[in-house]
Amino acid sequence: MTEIRYGGLEAGGTKMVCAVTNETGEWIDRMTIPTRFPEETIPEIVAFFERNKIDCLGIGSFGPLDLVDGSPNYGSLANTPKEGWREFPLLEAFRPLNVPVLMTTDVNGAALAESTVGAAKGLDSCIYITVGTGIGAGAIVNGAILEGLSHPEMGHISVVRHPEDTYKGKCPYHEDCLEGLAAGPAVQARWGQAGVELAENESVWKMEAFYLAQAIASYSYVLAPKKIILGGGVMKQYQLYPLVHKELAKQLNGYINVGNLEEYVVAPGLGDDAGIQGAILLAKKAYESA
Ligand code: ZN
Repeated sequence: MTEIRYGGLEAGGTKMVCAVTNETGEWIDRMTIPTRFPEETIPEIVAFFERNKIDCLGIGSFGPLDLVDGSPNYGSLANTPKEGWREFPLLEAFRPLNVPVLMTTDVNGAALAESTVGAAKGLDSCIYITVGTGIGAGAIVNGAILEGLSHPEMGHISVVRHPEDTYKGKCPYHEDCLEGLAAGPAVQARWGQAGVELAENESVWKMEAFYLAQAIASYSYVLAPKKIILGGGVMKQYQLYPLVHKELAKQLNGYINVGNLEEYVVAPGLGDDAGIQGAILLAKKAYESA
């Protein structure tokens, strides 16, 4: 019997991570390339998967995506600001591989991976939040990826402004939504320097924790997840975690019991591999349901 080969693609706005594993999860091949225009990027990825003779494919992609059941554009990028990718039919681009494919958002994929083999292993619910160039979150509810009318957009919720925050916000759609106030580009625009250069400035991270804790409190009230995983580039400022715990305790004010906050809101168990691991797990599901 020949081994089954799972292909995974973590499609991001800045890079594309592609990987192939066998059934036991051993890495067979891996490639990371910058995200250029689709005409340049996609053929290289298709060639990678052809070369590796994959049997199925899982895709976790940046968004927004059309994941509406029955939509003629299912699997396409929607109104992304990423140049050249608006309405690009991503799922369709892999049809020439002629293998079963499943697709979801990058953060849903990461949530799947963290609940299967990562920080929320053994739990049937969790939320994975990424705080980076944007803010997005994916959720596992009752053991399954949460999708409905397309996919959740948890990064764009409204938040109460920090009393000292005069920055107008950076979201092109809502200006001062969560992403508009707390994603990496908002931090840089408000304080005039990139996050890494602001590491020692406590006010920056207290304000960031104020916004992230509001989001976490809202997600907790709505979905009651058993664990929340907080990842992404901005969370490489590890001093943020205790600030988020402290602020969250203040904001929840004992209303719901989420247990020990240090165990409730955690860093990704899979580090930067949550996204690609999720894509591989999706490939496995695609193979099993084909
Ligand atoms: Zn927004």
